[in-house]
Amino acid sequence: MKERCLVLIKPDTLEKRLTGAVVDRLERLGLDIVAAKAVSLTEELVRQHYAHLAGKPFLEGVIRYMMGDYNHISNHKIIAFVFQGKDCVAKIRTELGATNPDNAAPYTIRGSFGKFDKAADIVYNCVHASDNAQDAEREIALWFKPEEVLDA
Ligand code: ADP
Repeated sequence: MKERCLVLIKPDTLEKRLTGAVVDRLERLGLDIVAAKAVSLTEELVRQHYAHLAGKPFLEGVIRYMMGDYNHISNHKIIAFVFQGKDCVAKIRTELGATNPDNAAPYTIRGSFGKFDKAADIVYNCVHASDNAQDAEREIALWFKPEEVLDA
C-alpha cells in the first residue's frame, strides 16, 4: 500500500475560509485524496487523537482550540482528509512548515496562514498532518471507517 497521511483542517482555517487554499497546495504535491469528510468533533476524539501530548501544559488549550472555542465555528466542525502517495507524510509536513507559525518559513502553509498567540499560548497552526507513516495509520483508523477510505 502507498503511504498515507491524515490531514485535519483546524478551526482557524475553517473560520478564514482557507480550506480550499490548503487543499489546493497539498493536492499539487502530486498526492491523491482518498477520503474526505466534515466531522463534528467530540472531546473524547480529540483527546484520543492528541494522547501523545498527555502531561503537556498546553494540552487543554489545544483541546479548546480544536473544539472551536476560539473561532466562530458551529458543531465543533473539523474537515478530515486522507492523502495518499509516495513520501506523502514528508511532502505534506514540508509544505505545512514548523509547528509554531512564528518559526515556519513564510512560504509554507503555516507561515502563510498561521499565528502564535503567545499570551494565551495557543498555536493557531491551521492544519494537522500525521507525524510519520505509522502514526498516520493509527490516526486514520481513529477518524475514518475502513469503507470511507478508497484504495487508490
Ligand atoms: P505537529 O502538529 O506539528 O505535529 P505536535 O504533535 O508536537 O506538532 O503538537 C500537536 C499540536 O499541539 C500542535 O499542532 C499545536 O496545535 C499544539 N502545540 C504544540 N506545541 C505547542 C506549544 N509549545 N504551545 C502551544 N501549543 C502547542
